[in-house]
Amino acid sequence: MSSESKPVTLSLVAPVYNEEDSIGLFLDRLDAVFAAHPEIRLEVVFVNDGSTDATLARLLEAQAADERLRVVDLSRNFGKEAALTAGLHAARGDVVVPIDVDLQDPPELILQMLAKWREGYEVVLGHRIDRRSDVWAKRTSANWFYRLHNRIATPKLPENVGDFRLMDRQVVEALKTLPESCRFMKGVFAWVGFRTATVDYVRPERAAGTTKFNSWKLWNFALEGVTSFSTDPLRIWTYLGFIVSCLSFIVGLIIALRVVLFGADAPGYASIMVSVTFLGGLQLIGIGVIGEYLGRTYLESKRRPIYIVRRVYEADAALQRGEGA
Ligand code: UDP
Ligand code: MG
Repeated sequence: MSSESKPVTLSLVAPVYNEEDSIGLFLDRLDAVFAAHPEIRLEVVFVNDGSTDATLARLLEAQAADERLRVVDLSRNFGKEAALTAGLHAARGDVVVPIDVDLQDPPELILQMLAKWREGYEVVLGHRIDRRSDVWAKRTSANWFYRLHNRIATPKLPENVGDFRLMDRQVVEALKTLPESCRFMKGVFAWVGFRTATVDYVRPERAAGTTKFNSWKLWNFALEGVTSFSTDPLRIWTYLGFIVSCLSFIVGLIIALRVVLFGADAPGYASIMVSVTFLGGLQLIGIGVIGEYLGRTYLESKRRPIYIVRRVYEADAALQRGEGA
């Protein structure tokens, strides 16, 4: 195919948070993959998400020797979702690929993604066929999350697909129009739609450093996912309340009948305690769920920006061509 070698500008968007050990490995790997492909004009947008180690210094060192690198330095740690958004806003390529800097998203796969894009797909998902590199607890909880999420939320999330994906410029522009500040990128990505293809890969272990997500963070991430794209957890209480009321009506009837048939009997302490605590718990859960949504509505209503940029480091200004393009 002649279109195989048509030049294309590819933006990689890499959020980094305390990744001083990974950056060098990541860049070496990119060179290894893309050196043989002069038709791919590379731009790497690093978003420094408030790292407290030497990450920024490493990035600037690397940038001094490589004009393809751009560094967006955020004013503090805003979280991966916000950092990714900042990167998407800064990216200029015809196609954009969010990628983790720890090499868990193999850069080689981008070549396959590009081939699919050239076939006319606007989104190409990296699909993990093997999550053995994740611990059992993470795999299982991720499975449960997808199951629950896809049962109650629209649109459905493709399972075992992370942020690693190729997007056409048109898709990125669509993403940029979504104003919400509580961001669950996987959901947002799915929401914009477009013609989608999938390429499979085995997710390797982290190349260096440690994971930035503990279980509490993941739990909150899952809550964000479900509440961002479904209101079912809010609505379920109407039905649960209705069922419980019906049941208590029946129980009341039974008690009244017993009094009529057998006369009043005092014992009943246990059943009262059970229903009081059960209903109390149920109500607290209901209030908690409402709180989850109310809190998000509150945050959203403040209309705060998603991230704050301290500074954008462009490579040597003299090397920059086509600034406004
Ligand atoms: N990351 C970030 N901000 C954060 C947490 C993580 O920018 O607050 C980046 C991190 O540097 C990495 C990517 O997000 O490039 C994925 O993080 P990690 O590898 O720790 O997640 P995991 O692969 O364990 O799910
Ligand atoms: Mg990782």
